Amino acid sequence: MTKRSLQRILVTGGAGFLGSHICERLVAEGHDVICLDNFFTSQKFNVAHLLGRPNFELIRHDVTLPIFLEVDQIYHMACPAAPGHYQYNPIKTIKTSVLGSVNMLGMAKRCGARILLASTSEVYGDPTVHPQTESYWGNVNPIGIRSCYDEGKRVAETLFMDYHRMNRVDVRIVRIFNTYGPRMHPFDGRVVSNFIRQALTDQPITIFGEGEQTRSFCYRDDLVEGIVRMMNCEKDFIGPVNIGNPHEFTIRQLAEKVLELTGSRSTLEKRPLPPDDPTRRQPDISLARKMLDWEPSTELSQGLAKTIDWFRTIRMEDYRPPTPNFA
Ligand code: NAD
Ligand code: UDP
Repeated sequence: MTKRSLQRILVTGGAGFLGSHICERLVAEGHDVICLDNFFTSQKFNVAHLLGRPNFELIRHDVTLPIFLEVDQIYHMACPAAPGHYQYNPIKTIKTSVLGSVNMLGMAKRCGARILLASTSEVYGDPTVHPQTESYWGNVNPIGIRSCYDEGKRVAETLFMDYHRMNRVDVRIVRIFNTYGPRMHPFDGRVVSNFIRQALTDQPITIFGEGEQTRSFCYRDDLVEGIVRMMNCEKDFIGPVNIGNPHEFTIRQLAEKVLELTGSRSTLEKRPLPPDDPTRRQPDISLARKMLDWEPSTELSQGLAKTIDWFRTIRMEDYRPPTPNFA
């Protein structure tokens, strides 16, 4: 089978926000797609529309446990991603990144599959270099409440590089910056979902700290395109590569945009800033532009409008919080 023909592709965390969109795209392209998820932070209905398709298969499994499948490519997306989700059971979070990566890299090694890691801008921590380039090693607190996620992903990157150097596993590493869009979990506690949900119900918009901290928000379609390009890039390029939107906004600006687009009567309410909350974040995407010929095209207002439309269609009571017996 050549690299460009139809492939059997595993998407771990495939029922999640980003994973479900990747599954959808790969199924539409005709690939044989296996979605693997333990549904910790996702709902089955995210992929229910794919279940009748002959080239889609769903497996309930936890990536911290070994599994034996035969695949050509692996998108390794499984990991709780929102602070409220990954801090719910921090030990499980770091196990998911470390043991999950070992298991998936082992599978890639056995099958000769190409494997892509969904890493994160969190590897840069509270950055002292701005905007963040891939060559920056980061400023991460190893013992704080975000460490289970940040350090977990840093170890995952190390594992990917070591399997590559030692066993010649065909790896790819993408560092994803804050991404939003339809199918985000409405109660994940992330800033975009919180602000939209609060605005649509005329509840106060919760600004943590002064709201002067910044983030750069990428719409999910742009993100998925960048990830798929990285997976299929045939240049001698394994990353890490930043995938995100370089337009930076303060959290207060985001709140004002959401108010404007929803026409909400919500007020802005200040709340304490969580510990170790990064003060600023903006990707330098020169490498993605050069190597993948990729850049995002969705303006924040445009992407937010689509996300708000989607939030208007969902029933909040259909969303479960993370399962309490998640150990
Ligand atoms: P998400 O929570 O919607 O998706 C994660 C999925 O992984 C969920 O379906 C969850 O049930 C599953 N999962 C968690 N632990 C698992 C385990 N042990 N075994 C099997 N499945 C498990 O979050 P998302 O935003 O779609 O994030 C997907 C990936 O992208 C994550 O690895 C995340 O770290 C990375 N990422 C996302 C963002 C973002 O802004 N969305 C930014 C940086 C990195
Ligand atoms: N934030 C906020 N109000 C909220 C949720 C988040 O002001 O209701 C802030 C949070 O403190 C952070 C930024 O928004 O500075 C982005 O938070 P999120 O949890 O979405 O992502 P991350 O911090 O992981 O980038």
